[in-house]
Amino acid sequence: MTLAADANSSLIDPAKLDRLGEVAVRVGLNLQPGQDLLMTAPTAALPLVRSIAKHAYKAGAGLVTPLLSDEEVTLARYRNAPDASFDRAAGWLYEGMAKAFSANTARLAIVGDNPLLLAGEDPQKVARANKANSTAYQPALEKIVGFDINWNIVAFPGAAWAKQVFSSDDESTAVKKLAEAIFSASRVDVADPIAAWAEHNKTLRQRTDWLNGERFSALHFKGPGTDLTIGLADGHEWQGGASTAKNGVVCNANIPTEEVFTTPHALRVDGHVRSTKPLSYQGTLIDEIAVRFEAGRIVEAKASRGEEVLNKVLDTDEGARRLGEVALVPHSSPISKSGILFFNTLFDENASCHIALGQCYSKCFVNGDKLTPEQIAAQGGNKSLIHIDWMIGSGQIDIDGIRADGSRVPVFRQGEWA
Ligand code: ZN
Ligand code: ZN
Repeated sequence: MTLAADANSSLIDPAKLDRLGEVAVRVGLNLQPGQDLLMTAPTAALPLVRSIAKHAYKAGAGLVTPLLSDEEVTLARYRNAPDASFDRAAGWLYEGMAKAFSANTARLAIVGDNPLLLAGEDPQKVARANKANSTAYQPALEKIVGFDINWNIVAFPGAAWAKQVFSSDDESTAVKKLAEAIFSASRVDVADPIAAWAEHNKTLRQRTDWLNGERFSALHFKGPGTDLTIGLADGHEWQGGASTAKNGVVCNANIPTEEVFTTPHALRVDGHVRSTKPLSYQGTLIDEIAVRFEAGRIVEAKASRGEEVLNKVLDTDEGARRLGEVALVPHSSPISKSGILFFNTLFDENASCHIALGQCYSKCFVNGDKLTPEQIAAQGGNKSLIHIDWMIGSGQIDIDGIRADGSRVPVFRQGEWA
């Protein structure tokens, strides 16, 4: 494993990788002088971890603390650990994370794991471990979804992930291709990535300004296998691109990002919808999801693959069957145009309109940072241990905005802004 990781990291353009590290720190986090940083990453991503640590300290970071996960260690658990241990999680670690966030520590996550790592393991154990982990992670997750501090997610081209995306290539070609795809989508393959991000943030801002001016009460999605009306939460606000965390830092939580998104009303979603891309969820692939909503709740769920895991996810808690996010992404977005299926939500959600099951974002409400959880719930915001995005957009989807008086405004036609 170590040898392979080292061999692969030499295939990745070191200059672009270093620019990705710089963009993660300066655009993604906008890390402030004196601010601490907590970073999680797979072991394969060490070259990026080191670059980020360097740029973080250059930006004046107080203390950078990396936490590494390892695929072999994860598999060792599934194959050797006692059965009862699958209902446990490292709660002490997440409590420590929550404490760090309360003390204004920024959070950075590097993704790049094998999307199918757990595909061959016992789905019961996977579901139990996921549930235990979600529950234990809650105190820390609350501070992330509440946007208490500046946070960011970036990607590193792990070998197993690259092989899944470019399955007909040999491993080294696949890693090179995935690295270039990540650099291009993350806008670090241009001369001045920091300026490119400022321009991109401006474009997304124009979209959110228009939607916030319209104040639609619902969106109607229509396409193959989809006829879905998504009521929007009372006092919802559209977000996209750079936004301000509660600690006052303007950051880009996702790199890349192409979406504008807001909060659906947890009780006002009706109709049926079909996924347009497979969802990779904690090592399991869930494909061709088809669900039916009644009064905001999923009452019927099917999938051609991973249906058992999907239904387990939906049973996590009451909010897992309701929506916490709706996001608009044009079919012509650069990630969509690349034609690459990344099997990774950070990328695939930015190639396509999507919805998320579970927890809503309080920042997607007008004055959301001042609302109590009770007020957010009263305005239609959903609450859950999970937040899982899945893709429903395509070149065939039409979306209408529905005003309070019932009149309609075209928002998307054939997958593009109308
Ligand atoms: Zn989203
Ligand atoms: Zn989401």
